Amino acid sequence: MLNMENIYDIIIVGAGPAGLTAALYARRAGKTVLLIEKESFGGQIVLSPLVENYPLTQPASGVELVDKLVTLVTSLGADIEVDNVVSVKKIDDGMLAVKTEYSSFTGRSLIIATGLKHRKLGLEGEEKFIGKGISFCAVCDGSFFKNMDVAVVGGGNTAVQDAIYLSKICRKVYLIHRRDRFRAEKRVADGLNVCPNVELLLNSKVIALHGDNHIESITVQSTIDDSSIRELNISGLFAAVGQEPNNAAFGELIALDDTGFAVADESCTTRQPNIFVAGDCRTKTVRQLVTAGADGGVAAIAASEYLDSLAGNA
Ligand code: NAP
Repeated sequence: MLNMENIYDIIIVGAGPAGLTAALYARRAGKTVLLIEKESFGGQIVLSPLVENYPLTQPASGVELVDKLVTLVTSLGADIEVDNVVSVKKIDDGMLAVKTEYSSFTGRSLIIATGLKHRKLGLEGEEKFIGKGISFCAVCDGSFFKNMDVAVVGGGNTAVQDAIYLSKICRKVYLIHRRDRFRAEKRVADGLNVCPNVELLLNSKVIALHGDNHIESITVQSTIDDSSIRELNISGLFAAVGQEPNNAAFGELIALDDTGFAVADESCTTRQPNIFVAGDCRTKTVRQLVTAGADGGVAAIAASEYLDSLAGNA
């Protein structure tokens, strides 16, 4: 039998901008809310030293922004658990059993807002060098490489921002991108023009990692001419080659697209009427802070309407 005291109206998985905004809207709609986060609050945005593309009166760091949102959400009465969701199953009366590594919870509805995880380079030996030279976060780990030579791989906003950030700390930064033009926005890429210690290696890819206990050098090959190969002695390699969704725990209940993103309609509702999805983990074209927050609000409103319809309040 279900213990009614442990049942939440809405269980939200993931406390990035989408999950936090969903919690804000859900509490304002008077729903009981449990927010489950496996690591740290805020998701990717906490890595941004300055958020300038969010409609705030003043730009703020990602951490400042998230701190304010967490304070707001907890002050409104959302419960928070730090734990990893391992499975979700349908149980009696349309309820959902959410199993975490250390506990289990019951929800009348679920909002998945699990964001993305860093994509790996896919190179032999990569795993052994993670934390031993390979990093996925320049802001977190850049200071370990003060006055050293490092490389950044990727051509998006993250890679370019990482290279610019590291150029202020490191002696030399190689920015290695597989094409001849950046995916990064022009305004972001223009920042490289004032970084004399950043060397661009365009049309290039890393093909091998070398070192014993720590990365010591990499082999870089031209993507145009296979025979053009360069060895770079570096102490750190920052992989900024995009992200992948974290939806494995939900794949049996909801539809995932070919690349693992959760499929939902415009109201963020999945094929299950009581499971909603918000933010970067869903199939969509624009993944930005502002669209993650918007999804959170939309999903919470849809979940609240679903709950109200059950209660006959719609
Ligand atoms: P991204 O835009 O997906 O860029 C990933 C980059 O990595 C691309 O240049 C891609 O190359 C390259 N790449 C992918 N797989 C690779 C592989 N196996 N080997 C080598 N290179 C590979 O990822 P992101 O830069 O992390 O950005 C993610 C999202 O966050 C984007 O929407 C971005 O605009 C947003 N963002 C915004 C800001 C901001 O301040 N506004 C800051 C950071 C991120 P190709 O270009 O050839 O595909």
